[in-house]
Order: sequence, then structure tokens, then C-alpha cells
Amino acid sequence: MLEEKPPFLYNLPVDDTFRIFVEQLREGKTTSLKESINTSFLGISDANLKYSNPVELMGTAYLAEDHLMIRLSMTTKAMMTCTICNEWTEVPVTVPSFYLSVPIEEIKGGIYNLEKEVREAILLETPRFAECHGGECPSRNAFKQYFKNRDEDGDAISPFESLDPKKFN
Ligand SMILES: [Zn+2]
Repeated sequence: MLEEKPPFLYNLPVDDTFRIFVEQLREGKTTSLKESINTSFLGISDANLKYSNPVELMGTAYLAEDHLMIRLSMTTKAMMTCTICNEWTEVPVTVPSFYLSVPIEEIKGGIYNLEKEVREAILLETPRFAECHGGECPSRNAFKQYFKNRDEDGDAISPFESLDPKKFN
């Protein structure tokens, strides 16, 4: 997560992705955060929502007196089913500015793990519903057609009307 340790020189264990080391921020140092994170940590994959693109995370961390200050921006893409046609559609998820201030005394072992906050921020920013084609689902027309199949009083025309028992009298 720290730019001072280029990932091509260090094969960082997966666990370090979300870790911020307080000691490395002493004496007014600011660290830049830049990660492309596999979305399996989000733990979401169901019939209507999954994340297929990595979370692109950028930000900075520094110490301000007795607090660890973190500023992040995150983007990813969710795959959601269209509420009209039920086809999968891609939905951008962006957290433009996320701020966190953590008292250093609460940080156990001098290592702060961002995973929970990142996960919550992404999930909160994911819309509950999606419509394909940027809100112009092609199946909308089929629905319009359905609503047109109503008589002048607005009552639905029943396909079973001809089976109305009164008509047999
Ligand atoms: Zn659709």
C-alpha cells in the first residue's frame, strides 16, 4: 500500500493491501496509497449483484497530532441485474472522497487495517437498483405496450374476457 515499497520489488502478502503502518508516518511523513484490489474481499456475489472489476483505490495517510488521518477515493464497477429485463448491466461505483480520522491510541500494534472501511464505503455507494442501457432498457417498450392494452376506463383488458360466464347466457 505504501509507494515507498514498490510492489515490483516486494512481493507483498495479500494481507498488507489494507494496512497502514503508523511508524512509517512519524515526523510529518505523508504516504500515498494506490492499490488495485481484487473485489473478493467485498464478499458479495449473489443473484442480483456482483463485483467483477478491481477496486481502484487512491489516497493519502498522515499523522495529525494523536490521529491517523486518511483520505481515500475509490472506484469500481458492479454488475447488477436490470430491474426491467433482468439482464446483467454494469454500474460504476465511485466514492470520490472518503475521510477517516482514527485516534492512534486505538490502533493496535501500530498497524491500521482499512479493509472494513473500504468495504462499507463501496457497498454504501452501490445503488440498490439498476436499469440497463443507462436507464433506457429496451424492454421498457414491451411494458408500454402492456399499459396500452387497457380500455378507456383504464381497466385492463383481460385475455379471458371471452370466457366470462355471463357471455354464455
Ligand atoms: Zn434492461
